[in-house]
Amino acid sequence: MILIGGGALFTNDPEMPFAANGAVAAEDGRIVAAGKTAELKRAFPGAEFIDAKGGLIMPGLINAHTHFYSSLLRGVKLKGFAPDSLYEALAGRAWRLDRRLSFTDCVSAAYAAIIDSVRCGVTTLFDHHACADPAGTLGAIAAAAADVGVRTCLACEVSDRGGFTCAESQIRENVEFWDYCKRNGHGRLCAMFGLHAPFTLTDATLRKCVARRPEGMGFHLHLSEGEDDRCYCARTSGVSPAQRLLDLGVLGPDTLLCHCVHVTEKEIALIAESGAFIVNAPQSNMSNGVGFAPVPRFMEAGITVCLGTDGFTGDMIESARSYTLIRSHEAGMPGHGADEAAEMLFSGNVRLAERFFGPGIGRIKPGAPADVAVFGYRPFTPIGPENAINHILFGLSGRSCETVMVDGRIIMRAGRLVTVDEGRLRTACAAAVNSLLERMEAEGPVPPLMA
Ligand SMILES: [Zn+2]
Repeated sequence: MILIGGGALFTNDPEMPFAANGAVAAEDGRIVAAGKTAELKRAFPGAEFIDAKGGLIMPGLINAHTHFYSSLLRGVKLKGFAPDSLYEALAGRAWRLDRRLSFTDCVSAAYAAIIDSVRCGVTTLFDHHACADPAGTLGAIAAAAADVGVRTCLACEVSDRGGFTCAESQIRENVEFWDYCKRNGHGRLCAMFGLHAPFTLTDATLRKCVARRPEGMGFHLHLSEGEDDRCYCARTSGVSPAQRLLDLGVLGPDTLLCHCVHVTEKEIALIAESGAFIVNAPQSNMSNGVGFAPVPRFMEAGITVCLGTDGFTGDMIESARSYTLIRSHEAGMPGHGADEAAEMLFSGNVRLAERFFGPGIGRIKPGAPADVAVFGYRPFTPIGPENAINHILFGLSGRSCETVMVDGRIIMRAGRLVTVDEGRLRTACAAAVNSLLERMEAEGPVPPLMA
Protein backbone atom coordinates (compact mmCIF):
# COMPACT_ATOMS: atom_id res chain seq x y z
CA MET A 1 0.00 0.00 0.00
CA ILE A 2 1.12 3.56 -0.75
CA LEU A 3 0.02 6.57 1.27
CA ILE A 4 0.50 10.02 -0.28
CA GLY A 5 -0.10 12.69 2.33
CA GLY A 6 0.98 15.82 4.07
CA GLY A 7 -0.57 18.20 1.54
CA ALA A 8 -3.74 20.08 0.63
CA LEU A 9 -5.98 17.37 -0.84
CA PHE A 10 -8.41 18.30 -3.62
CA THR A 11 -10.40 15.18 -4.49
CA ASN A 12 -12.96 16.28 -7.12
CA ASP A 13 -15.34 14.06 -5.14
CA PRO A 14 -18.46 16.00 -4.10
CA GLU A 15 -18.80 13.87 -0.97
CA MET A 16 -15.44 14.98 0.42
CA PRO A 17 -14.01 17.62 -1.89
CA PHE A 18 -11.08 18.85 0.19
CA ALA A 19 -8.94 18.02 3.20
CA ALA A 20 -6.30 20.26 4.74
CA ASN A 21 -3.22 18.16 5.55
CA GLY A 22 -4.92 15.40 3.60
CA ALA A 23 -3.81 12.04 2.31
CA VAL A 24 -4.82 9.31 -0.11
CA ALA A 25 -4.18 5.60 0.36
CA ALA A 26 -3.88 3.27 -2.66
CA GLU A 27 -3.48 -0.44 -3.08
CA ASP A 28 -3.80 -2.85 -6.02
CA GLY A 29 -4.50 0.02 -8.41
CA ARG A 30 -7.43 1.41 -6.44
CA ILE A 31 -7.90 4.20 -3.96
CA VAL A 32 -8.64 2.69 -0.58
CA ALA A 33 -9.22 5.83 1.47
CA ALA A 34 -8.90 9.62 1.43
CA GLY A 35 -8.93 11.93 4.41
CA LYS A 36 -6.67 13.47 7.04
CA THR A 37 -3.03 12.40 6.95
CA ALA A 38 -2.86 11.63 10.67
CA GLU A 39 -5.95 9.42 10.51
CA LEU A 40 -4.79 7.50 7.44
CA LYS A 41 -1.33 7.00 8.92
CA ARG A 42 -2.98 5.46 11.98
CA ALA A 43 -5.28 3.32 9.83
CA PHE A 44 -2.48 2.05 7.54
CA PRO A 45 0.70 1.95 9.65
CA GLY A 46 2.49 -0.40 7.22
CA ALA A 47 1.96 1.74 4.10
CA GLU A 48 4.85 3.36 2.25
CA PHE A 49 4.48 7.10 2.97
CA ILE A 50 5.16 9.68 0.25
CA ASP A 51 5.31 13.14 1.76
CA ALA A 52 3.73 15.93 -0.34
CA LYS A 53 5.56 18.42 1.91
CA GLY A 54 2.67 20.86 2.00
CA GLY A 55 2.01 20.67 -1.75
CA LEU A 56 -1.28 20.07 -3.55
CA ILE A 57 -2.55 16.50 -3.98
CA MET A 58 -5.08 16.08 -6.81
CA PRO A 59 -6.56 13.48 -9.13
CA GLY A 60 -4.35 12.87 -12.17
CA LEU A 61 -5.46 15.25 -14.92
CA ILE A 62 -7.10 14.26 -18.22
CA ASN A 63 -6.29 15.70 -21.66
CA ALA A 64 -9.33 15.17 -23.90
CA HIS A 65 -7.61 15.96 -27.23
CA THR A 66 -3.98 16.16 -28.16
CA HIS A 67 -1.58 15.24 -30.96
CA PHE A 68 1.54 13.45 -29.73
CA TYR A 69 3.17 13.76 -33.15
CA SER A 70 3.10 17.55 -33.08
CA SER A 71 5.40 17.57 -30.05
CA LEU A 72 8.25 17.05 -32.53
CA LEU A 73 7.79 20.63 -33.74
CA ARG A 74 7.56 22.30 -30.35
CA GLY A 75 9.67 25.42 -30.48
CA VAL A 76 10.75 24.72 -34.06
CA LYS A 77 10.75 27.64 -36.48
CA LEU A 78 10.06 26.39 -39.99
CA LYS A 79 11.64 28.32 -42.84
CA GLY A 80 9.06 30.30 -44.79
CA PHE A 81 6.19 29.46 -42.45
CA ALA A 82 4.00 32.58 -42.25
CA PRO A 83 0.35 31.47 -42.49
CA ASP A 84 -2.52 33.87 -43.15
CA SER A 85 -5.27 31.35 -42.39
CA LEU A 86 -5.98 28.11 -40.56
CA TYR A 87 -5.69 26.28 -43.88
CA GLU A 88 -2.22 27.72 -44.49
CA ALA A 89 -1.23 26.91 -40.91
CA LEU A 90 -2.30 23.29 -41.34
CA ALA A 91 -0.77 22.89 -44.78
CA GLY A 92 2.45 24.65 -43.82
CA ARG A 93 3.08 22.89 -40.55
CA ALA A 94 0.90 19.94 -39.39
CA TRP A 95 0.35 18.36 -42.82
CA ARG A 96 3.91 19.06 -43.85
CA LEU A 97 4.94 17.14 -40.75
CA ASP A 98 2.56 14.19 -40.67
CA ARG A 99 3.16 13.08 -44.26
CA ARG A 100 6.88 12.66 -43.51
CA LEU A 101 6.70 10.98 -40.12
CA SER A 102 8.58 7.70 -39.94
CA PHE A 103 7.63 4.88 -37.59
CA THR A 104 10.54 5.88 -35.31
CA ASP A 105 9.42 9.53 -35.35
CA CYS A 106 5.94 8.50 -34.15
CA VAL A 107 7.44 6.58 -31.23
CA SER A 108 9.82 9.42 -30.30
CA ALA A 109 6.95 11.91 -30.47
CA ALA A 110 4.79 9.73 -28.25
CA TYR A 111 7.48 9.47 -25.58
CA ALA A 112 8.15 13.22 -25.74
CA ALA A 113 4.47 14.19 -25.46
CA ILE A 114 3.64 11.64 -22.79
CA ILE A 115 6.63 12.52 -20.60
CA ASP A 116 5.86 16.22 -20.98
CA SER A 117 2.27 15.50 -19.91
CA VAL A 118 3.27 13.42 -16.90
CA ARG A 119 5.52 16.27 -15.84
CA CYS A 120 2.32 18.38 -15.79
CA GLY A 121 0.34 15.84 -13.71
CA VAL A 122 -1.62 14.45 -16.68
CA THR A 123 -2.34 10.73 -16.41
CA THR A 124 -4.99 10.13 -19.11
CA LEU A 125 -4.61 11.27 -22.73
CA PHE A 126 -6.91 11.13 -25.77
CA ASP A 127 -4.51 11.26 -28.69
CA HIS A 128 -5.34 11.98 -32.32
CA HIS A 129 -2.50 10.56 -34.38
CA ALA A 130 -1.74 11.57 -37.97
CA CYS A 131 0.60 9.75 -40.32
CA ALA A 132 0.66 9.07 -44.05
CA ASP A 133 2.03 5.54 -43.56
CA PRO A 134 0.58 4.54 -40.19
CA ALA A 135 0.82 0.71 -40.26
CA GLY A 136 1.56 -0.46 -36.73
CA THR A 137 2.17 3.01 -35.33
CA LEU A 138 -0.80 2.98 -32.91
CA GLY A 139 0.48 -0.24 -31.35
CA ALA A 140 3.94 1.30 -30.99
CA ILE A 141 2.47 4.45 -29.42
CA ALA A 142 0.43 2.25 -27.07
CA ALA A 143 3.63 0.44 -26.09
CA ALA A 144 5.31 3.79 -25.33
CA ALA A 145 2.33 4.82 -23.19
CA ALA A 146 2.46 1.50 -21.35
CA ASP A 147 6.20 1.93 -20.88
CA VAL A 148 5.78 5.32 -19.21
CA GLY A 149 2.65 4.08 -17.44
CA VAL A 150 -0.18 6.45 -18.47
CA ARG A 151 -3.70 5.81 -19.77
CA THR A 152 -4.25 6.55 -23.45
CA CYS A 153 -7.13 6.43 -25.89
CA LEU A 154 -5.60 6.39 -29.37
CA ALA A 155 -6.97 7.13 -32.84
CA CYS A 156 -5.36 7.55 -36.26
CA GLU A 157 -6.93 10.25 -38.39
CA VAL A 158 -8.25 9.24 -41.78
CA SER A 159 -8.08 11.90 -44.47
CA ASP A 160 -8.39 12.02 -48.23
CA ARG A 161 -5.66 14.61 -48.49
CA GLY A 162 -3.01 11.91 -49.01
CA GLY A 163 -4.96 10.02 -51.64
CA PHE A 164 -6.85 6.72 -51.77
CA THR A 165 -4.04 4.36 -50.68
CA CYS A 166 -3.13 6.55 -47.76
CA ALA A 167 -6.73 6.82 -46.52
CA GLU A 168 -7.12 3.07 -46.90
CA SER A 169 -4.03 2.41 -44.74
CA GLN A 170 -5.34 4.85 -42.11
CA ILE A 171 -8.72 3.08 -42.01
CA ARG A 172 -6.95 -0.27 -41.65
CA GLU A 173 -4.79 1.07 -38.82
CA ASN A 174 -7.86 2.12 -36.80
CA VAL A 175 -9.59 -1.22 -37.32
CA GLU A 176 -6.49 -3.27 -36.53
CA PHE A 177 -5.75 -1.20 -33.43
CA TRP A 178 -9.24 -1.94 -32.11
CA ASP A 179 -8.29 -5.62 -32.24
CA TYR A 180 -4.88 -4.83 -30.68
CA CYS A 181 -6.69 -3.25 -27.71
CA LYS A 182 -8.91 -6.30 -27.35
CA ARG A 183 -5.80 -8.53 -27.29
CA ASN A 184 -3.71 -6.26 -25.06
CA GLY A 185 -6.40 -4.79 -22.79
CA HIS A 186 -5.13 -3.70 -19.39
CA GLY A 187 -7.54 -0.93 -18.41
CA ARG A 188 -5.14 1.81 -19.45
CA LEU A 189 -5.64 1.55 -23.19
CA CYS A 190 -8.54 2.04 -25.55
CA ALA A 191 -9.22 3.05 -29.13
CA MET A 192 -11.31 5.47 -31.14
CA PHE A 193 -11.68 5.71 -34.92
CA GLY A 194 -9.83 8.84 -36.02
CA LEU A 195 -11.05 11.15 -38.77
CA HIS A 196 -9.32 14.39 -39.70
CA ALA A 197 -12.10 16.87 -40.42
CA PRO A 198 -15.15 17.03 -42.74
CA PHE A 199 -13.34 19.26 -45.25
CA THR A 200 -10.67 16.67 -46.04
CA LEU A 201 -13.01 13.68 -46.21
CA THR A 202 -15.28 12.76 -49.10
CA ASP A 203 -18.67 11.16 -48.52
CA ALA A 204 -17.32 7.93 -50.00
CA THR A 205 -14.49 7.75 -47.49
CA LEU A 206 -16.73 8.67 -44.56
CA ARG A 207 -19.19 5.95 -45.61
CA LYS A 208 -16.34 3.48 -45.79
CA CYS A 209 -15.16 4.47 -42.28
CA VAL A 210 -18.65 4.03 -40.86
CA ALA A 211 -19.02 0.65 -42.57
CA ARG A 212 -15.60 -0.62 -41.45
CA ARG A 213 -15.81 0.72 -37.87
CA PRO A 214 -16.03 -2.13 -35.36
CA GLU A 215 -19.17 -2.06 -33.25
CA GLY A 216 -18.75 0.10 -30.15
CA MET A 217 -15.85 2.15 -31.56
CA GLY A 218 -16.45 5.91 -31.35
CA PHE A 219 -15.16 8.54 -33.79
CA HIS A 220 -12.62 11.20 -32.78
CA LEU A 221 -12.40 14.13 -35.19
CA HIS A 222 -12.08 17.86 -35.68
CA LEU A 223 -15.23 19.80 -36.50
CA SER A 224 -15.50 23.39 -37.68
CA GLU A 225 -12.22 24.59 -36.27
CA GLY A 226 -12.25 27.24 -38.97
CA GLU A 227 -14.67 28.03 -41.80
CA ASP A 228 -13.26 25.30 -44.06
CA ASP A 229 -15.72 22.57 -43.02
CA ARG A 230 -18.75 24.79 -43.56
CA CYS A 231 -17.56 25.97 -46.99
CA TYR A 232 -16.67 22.43 -48.13
CA CYS A 233 -19.94 20.88 -46.93
CA ALA A 234 -22.06 23.68 -48.42
CA ARG A 235 -20.32 23.19 -51.76
CA THR A 236 -20.37 19.39 -51.87
CA SER A 237 -23.50 18.32 -50.02
CA GLY A 238 -25.48 21.48 -49.34
CA VAL A 239 -25.82 20.78 -45.64
CA SER A 240 -23.98 21.89 -42.51
CA PRO A 241 -20.95 19.87 -41.33
CA ALA A 242 -22.79 18.55 -38.25
CA GLN A 243 -25.81 17.55 -40.37
CA ARG A 244 -23.49 15.79 -42.81
CA LEU A 245 -21.83 13.85 -39.99
CA LEU A 246 -25.25 12.90 -38.65
CA ASP A 247 -26.54 11.86 -42.09
CA LEU A 248 -23.50 9.67 -42.71
CA GLY A 249 -23.62 7.98 -39.28
CA VAL A 250 -20.54 9.62 -37.73
CA LEU A 251 -22.33 11.54 -34.98
CA GLY A 252 -23.34 9.61 -31.86
CA PRO A 253 -22.87 9.29 -28.10
CA ASP A 254 -19.30 7.94 -28.47
CA THR A 255 -18.20 10.71 -30.84
CA LEU A 256 -15.54 13.19 -29.74
CA LEU A 257 -15.67 16.50 -31.64
CA CYS A 258 -12.76 18.85 -31.22
CA HIS A 259 -13.12 22.65 -31.64
CA CYS A 260 -16.66 23.36 -32.95
CA VAL A 261 -15.75 27.04 -33.13
CA HIS A 262 -17.88 27.78 -36.18
CA VAL A 263 -21.09 25.88 -35.49
CA THR A 264 -24.60 27.26 -35.82
CA GLU A 265 -27.37 27.05 -33.23
CA LYS A 266 -28.97 24.32 -35.33
CA GLU A 267 -25.73 22.34 -35.28
CA ILE A 268 -25.41 22.78 -31.50
CA ALA A 269 -28.90 21.29 -31.16
CA LEU A 270 -27.93 18.36 -33.42
CA ILE A 271 -24.77 17.67 -31.44
CA ALA A 272 -26.69 17.89 -28.14
CA GLU A 273 -29.32 15.50 -29.45
CA SER A 274 -26.65 13.01 -30.57
CA GLY A 275 -24.98 12.91 -27.13
CA ALA A 276 -21.54 13.57 -28.65
CA PHE A 277 -18.75 15.17 -26.61
CA ILE A 278 -17.18 18.49 -27.60
CA VAL A 279 -13.57 19.31 -26.75
CA ASN A 280 -12.42 22.88 -26.38
CA ALA A 281 -8.75 23.73 -27.01
CA PRO A 282 -8.47 27.43 -26.14
CA GLN A 283 -4.77 28.00 -26.69
CA SER A 284 -4.76 26.23 -30.04
CA ASN A 285 -7.80 28.22 -31.15
CA MET A 286 -6.16 31.48 -30.14
CA SER A 287 -2.88 30.52 -31.76
CA ASN A 288 -4.62 29.67 -35.05
CA GLY A 289 -6.76 32.79 -34.86
CA VAL A 290 -9.96 30.81 -35.46
CA GLY A 291 -12.06 32.49 -32.76
CA PHE A 292 -13.82 31.64 -29.51
CA ALA A 293 -15.86 28.42 -29.36
CA PRO A 294 -19.27 29.11 -27.80
CA VAL A 295 -18.65 26.90 -24.75
CA PRO A 296 -21.39 28.56 -22.64
CA ARG A 297 -23.92 27.77 -25.39
CA PHE A 298 -22.73 24.15 -25.59
CA MET A 299 -23.23 23.80 -21.85
CA GLU A 300 -26.66 25.45 -21.92
CA ALA A 301 -27.65 22.95 -24.63
CA GLY A 302 -26.65 20.08 -22.35
CA ILE A 303 -23.52 18.99 -24.25
CA THR A 304 -20.65 17.52 -22.25
CA VAL A 305 -17.77 19.89 -22.95
CA CYS A 306 -14.24 18.68 -22.32
CA LEU A 307 -10.87 20.41 -22.29
CA GLY A 308 -7.89 19.50 -24.43
CA THR A 309 -4.69 21.08 -25.67
CA ASP A 310 -4.67 20.08 -29.37
CA GLY A 311 -0.93 19.48 -28.94
CA PHE A 312 -0.26 23.11 -28.07
CA THR A 313 1.03 22.20 -24.60
CA GLY A 314 1.11 19.28 -22.20
CA ASP A 315 -0.18 21.44 -19.37
CA MET A 316 -3.90 21.15 -18.68
CA ILE A 317 -3.78 23.82 -15.97
CA GLU A 318 -2.36 26.28 -18.50
CA SER A 319 -5.13 25.28 -20.90
CA ALA A 320 -7.85 25.80 -18.26
CA ARG A 321 -6.43 29.19 -17.28
CA SER A 322 -6.27 30.25 -20.92
CA TYR A 323 -9.96 29.47 -21.26
CA THR A 324 -10.83 31.83 -18.40
CA LEU A 325 -8.79 34.58 -20.05
CA ILE A 326 -10.26 34.25 -23.53
CA ARG A 327 -13.74 33.94 -22.04
CA SER A 328 -13.38 37.21 -20.12
CA HIS A 329 -11.79 38.85 -23.14
CA GLU A 330 -14.62 37.64 -25.36
CA ALA A 331 -17.32 38.74 -22.90
CA GLY A 332 -15.64 42.11 -22.40
CA MET A 333 -16.14 41.62 -18.68
CA PRO A 334 -13.74 40.60 -15.94
CA GLY A 335 -13.86 37.35 -14.01
CA HIS A 336 -15.70 35.19 -16.52
CA GLY A 337 -15.00 31.57 -17.37
CA ALA A 338 -13.70 30.04 -14.14
CA ASP A 339 -16.85 27.96 -13.59
CA GLU A 340 -16.79 26.76 -17.20
CA ALA A 341 -13.06 25.93 -17.08
CA ALA A 342 -13.60 23.92 -13.89
CA GLU A 343 -16.62 22.23 -15.44
CA MET A 344 -14.59 21.14 -18.47
CA LEU A 345 -11.51 20.03 -16.51
CA PHE A 346 -13.19 18.31 -13.58
CA SER A 347 -16.59 17.20 -14.96
CA GLY A 348 -16.52 17.00 -18.76
CA ASN A 349 -13.10 15.31 -18.91
CA VAL A 350 -14.11 12.95 -16.10
CA ARG A 351 -17.31 11.94 -17.92
CA LEU A 352 -15.34 11.33 -21.10
CA ALA A 353 -12.64 9.28 -19.35
CA GLU A 354 -15.23 7.30 -17.42
CA ARG A 355 -16.99 6.42 -20.67
CA PHE A 356 -13.83 4.92 -22.11
CA PHE A 357 -11.86 3.74 -19.06
CA GLY A 358 -14.56 2.98 -16.49
CA PRO A 359 -15.99 4.68 -13.41
CA GLY A 360 -14.08 6.82 -10.95
CA ILE A 361 -11.29 8.12 -13.21
CA GLY A 362 -10.46 11.73 -12.33
CA ARG A 363 -11.69 11.54 -8.74
CA ILE A 364 -9.98 10.64 -5.49
CA LYS A 365 -12.48 8.49 -3.67
CA PRO A 366 -12.52 4.94 -2.33
CA GLY A 367 -12.79 2.39 -5.13
CA ALA A 368 -11.65 4.77 -7.90
CA PRO A 369 -8.60 3.97 -10.03
CA ALA A 370 -5.55 5.30 -8.19
CA ASP A 371 -4.43 8.13 -10.49
CA VAL A 372 -2.94 10.89 -8.35
CA ALA A 373 -0.69 13.91 -8.98
CA VAL A 374 1.19 15.93 -6.38
CA PHE A 375 2.11 19.50 -7.25
CA GLY A 376 4.70 21.69 -5.57
CA TYR A 377 2.10 24.38 -5.03
CA ARG A 378 2.46 26.03 -1.64
CA PRO A 379 0.53 29.30 -1.72
CA PHE A 380 1.09 32.21 0.64
CA THR A 381 -2.69 32.63 0.89
CA PRO A 382 -5.13 30.23 2.57
CA ILE A 383 -6.42 27.29 0.54
CA GLY A 384 -9.60 25.46 1.50
CA PRO A 385 -12.71 23.81 0.07
CA GLU A 386 -14.25 27.15 -0.91
CA ASN A 387 -11.32 28.38 -3.01
CA ALA A 388 -9.32 25.29 -4.07
CA ILE A 389 -10.58 25.62 -7.67
CA ASN A 390 -9.50 29.26 -7.76
CA HIS A 391 -6.03 28.28 -6.59
CA ILE A 392 -5.89 25.62 -9.31
CA LEU A 393 -7.04 28.00 -12.05
CA PHE A 394 -5.15 31.14 -11.02
CA GLY A 395 -2.18 30.06 -8.91
CA LEU A 396 -1.05 26.56 -9.84
CA SER A 397 1.39 25.74 -12.62
CA GLY A 398 1.01 22.26 -14.10
CA ARG A 399 4.77 22.11 -14.49
CA SER A 400 5.23 22.21 -10.73
CA CYS A 401 4.13 18.56 -10.64
CA GLU A 402 6.48 16.47 -8.49
CA THR A 403 4.96 13.03 -8.08
CA VAL A 404 2.54 11.02 -10.23
CA MET A 405 0.74 7.73 -9.58
CA VAL A 406 -1.25 5.85 -12.25
CA ASP A 407 -3.21 2.72 -11.44
CA GLY A 408 -1.55 2.66 -8.01
CA ARG A 409 1.96 2.69 -9.48
CA ILE A 410 4.35 5.60 -8.95
CA ILE A 411 5.64 6.71 -12.37
CA MET A 412 7.24 10.01 -11.30
CA ARG A 413 8.74 10.58 -7.89
CA ALA A 414 10.13 13.92 -6.68
CA GLY A 415 10.41 15.19 -10.26
CA ARG A 416 12.10 12.10 -11.71
CA LEU A 417 10.47 9.64 -14.12
CA VAL A 418 11.00 6.22 -12.60
CA THR A 419 9.56 3.99 -15.34
CA VAL A 420 11.74 5.09 -18.27
CA ASP A 421 15.21 6.49 -18.97
CA GLU A 422 14.20 10.06 -19.79
CA GLY A 423 17.72 11.14 -20.77
CA ARG A 424 18.04 8.39 -23.38
CA LEU A 425 14.59 9.17 -24.77
CA ARG A 426 15.39 12.88 -25.02
CA THR A 427 18.57 12.12 -26.99
CA ALA A 428 16.64 9.81 -29.35
CA CYS A 429 13.92 12.42 -29.82
CA ALA A 430 16.38 15.21 -30.63
CA ALA A 431 18.04 12.98 -33.25
CA ALA A 432 14.65 12.12 -34.77
CA VAL A 433 13.69 15.81 -34.99
CA ASN A 434 16.97 16.78 -36.68
CA SER A 435 16.53 14.10 -39.31
CA LEU A 436 12.86 14.95 -39.79
CA LEU A 437 13.57 18.65 -40.28
CA GLU A 438 16.20 17.84 -42.88
CA ARG A 439 13.67 15.75 -44.80
CA MET A 440 11.00 18.43 -44.49
CA GLU A 441 13.34 21.10 -45.82
CA ALA A 442 14.58 18.86 -48.63
CA GLU A 443 11.14 17.75 -49.80
CA GLY A 444 9.52 21.19 -49.79
CA PRO A 445 5.93 22.23 -49.08
CA VAL A 446 2.77 20.12 -49.19
CA PRO A 447 1.03 20.07 -52.58
CA PRO A 448 -2.40 21.73 -52.73
CA LEU A 449 -5.37 19.83 -51.31
CA MET A 450 -7.97 18.13 -53.50
CA ALA A 451 -10.19 20.48 -55.44
ZN1 LIG B 1 -6.54 18.56 -33.03
